[in-house]
Amino acid sequence: MVLVVLALDAVDVRHAEDFGCENLLLDEHTKMQSVAHRLEHPHTGEAWPSIATGLHPTEHGMTGHGEWDSQFLTALSRIAHTLNVSGNIRSRIGDAIKQNTGQDWSLQIVDEPTFLDGEYRAVHNWPGVYRNEALHYIWGLFEEVKEDRMSEETLIRETYTEAASKFGWVHEAITHDIQIAATHIHVIDVLGHIYSDDRAAYRQVYEDVDERVGEVREALGEDDELLILSDHGMETTWLDDDDPGTHSWRAIASTTVGSPPEHALDVKEWVEDHVQEIDPERTRADIPEDQLRELGYID
Ligand SMILES: [Zn+2]
Repeated sequence: MVLVVLALDAVDVRHAEDFGCENLLLDEHTKMQSVAHRLEHPHTGEAWPSIATGLHPTEHGMTGHGEWDSQFLTALSRIAHTLNVSGNIRSRIGDAIKQNTGQDWSLQIVDEPTFLDGEYRAVHNWPGVYRNEALHYIWGLFEEVKEDRMSEETLIRETYTEAASKFGWVHEAITHDIQIAATHIHVIDVLGHIYSDDRAAYRQVYEDVDERVGEVREALGEDDELLILSDHGMETTWLDDDDPGTHSWRAIASTTVGSPPEHALDVKEWVEDHVQEIDPERTRADIPEDQLRELGYID
């Protein structure tokens, strides 16, 4: 049995419900309470390490302060919010960088234990836990667009193809004898910032991702299960939101097994309760024995 954990950044439970994304909602779903320390809304670099460790940002220490103090960043964030009103796409992308990356260009790796630790728990990028480079790459593209060195079209393409590489990884990972296959996918966050005032374009992104998740569902073995998580949602112009283009508190948890975790800090325990132990001795012993049998050395 493999537990597939899809960390789908910025999937907003309200939007997933409104758009009828049945693969994102799975058998059972809930609005998951997320965490925030540096800003008034949840932040990618803080929340994912919290989800993996079960610790609040003040406990795992990944708050993204960097050189700046939190008051300065909060003030900067408030100024950025007012720029949203202009509706200019460049300023919105600039806002997203200020609010979501800030000093996080060198997002670190937590020291505390996570549910992703262990030889039979396969991970393909998890912010603040395992190989931050994919997130840094996308954040870097944001900067390129903001500085007018790259087109928005290219950012969108790179975001989709990055996401595709993660979904493809899941399809391969579940064919192996592992407990967990977990990956972080950033496409809804990036395009959510860009399309927070364009419901049709935003909905299309949800439908695209919903389709990819549907393909993973179809590929699951009989005993395999799926857990979908987000760290926050996205405030948009067509809902009664205060700051369209910023992160909402409407994170999601959905699953194919039992009831999903209600709180970001409960995820680690939830995973440990649902994962199936693999006996490494047995796994290792089976492989040569099968090969020996095939070769006719043993009956
Ligand atoms: Zn995020």
